[in-house]
Amino acid sequence: MSSIFTRIINSEIPAYKVAEDEHYLAFLDINPIAKGHTLVIPKTEVDYIFDLDHDTLSGLMVFCKKVARAIEQVVPCDRIGVTVIGLEVPHAHVHLIPIDHIHDMDFSKPKLGFSPDEFEAIAASIRDRVNQAS
Ligand code: AMP
Repeated sequence: MSSIFTRIINSEIPAYKVAEDEHYLAFLDINPIAKGHTLVIPKTEVDYIFDLDHDTLSGLMVFCKKVARAIEQVVPCDRIGVTVIGLEVPHAHVHLIPIDHIHDMDFSKPKLGFSPDEFEAIAASIRDRVNQAS
């Protein structure tokens, strides 16, 4: 069965997409720990990030950089924190999280709640920045 992220790639389930190309997709995390918390995935469905082939893995990081630059312009922060966990969804993904302090990367804290309109507004702002940079 396809991963939930492959189903997002195939538009079988909705997501707040912020950037996409032939090989990668970025969309907002549905349970964010910060405004602008974004997931970046390869379109190839591979569970463990270090099982990706070299080109896909390096391309994923370059795509992350493009998305991170856009998030920085939308969400005031010191920088974009980068982490990989992967214990919940078996489809490799990178978390991009606007941070000011180390505890901003704490996944055990309560998740932020946004309405669908708020999620869409955040995604649209990031998407605009990505498109301006392209
Ligand atoms: P992990 O696999 O531990 O890195 O966690 C998976 C992440 O994916 C969590 O932060 C979830 O909130 C997020 N997530 C799970 N399902 C969705 C979805 N349908 N849309 C957006 N984010 C999701």
